[in-house]
This record gives sequence, C-alpha cells and structure tokens, in this order.
Amino acid sequence: MTRVSRNQSFKKRMLKKCHYMDCQGGSVVGMMGSLSDCATCNGLGLVDADTGEALPERDVIRQLLMRFEEQRLRIHQMKQYQEELQRRLEGYERGR
Ligand SMILES: [Zn+2]
Repeated sequence: MTRVSRNQSFKKRMLKKCHYMDCQGGSVVGMMGSLSDCATCNGLGLVDADTGEALPERDVIRQLLMRFEEQRLRIHQMKQYQEELQRRLEGYERGR
C-alpha cells in the first residue's frame, strides 16, 4: 500500500444508506426467508454518497470511527458547557 492511498482513506467521505430497495441494513431477504449480504453495499448497509458504490470494509470502519470520535468530542464539550452553566447558576443563587 502506498502512502497516498493510506492517506486518502483517512479523508472524511460522505456515506449514505444503501439505495438498493430490498436492502435492510446490509441484508437482503431471499427466497425461503434466508438472509444474505446485499451485493450493492457488500452487506454493510452504507455506500459512498458520491459514487453510490460500496466502500471496502476497512474504509467504512475508519469513516465510522471518525464520526464516533467527533461525537465523543462533541459530547465532552457539551458536558463541559453544562458544568460551566451549573457553576454559574450556583454562583448566581449564592449571590442572592
Ligand atoms: Zn445494501
């Protein structure tokens, strides 16, 4: 693997839900009710938003981890903000 392709997979890409109409989160119900992986999204339930094509599993996992990390950071910031508001409110109530 070259350095360029490694870096490209770390770029944030837009994902969207698989557009195949029978795909449910990456699974397709076949005859006799058996489940199989959707061929459009490789059984992942997500495709590249630009091309509509499946991404390699590794890339999808990286993309999801990136979002997970962003959300974790956002929750952390919201908690800090909430604590700051709580401190201010307590200061205000003590001051009365
Ligand atoms: Zn699919």
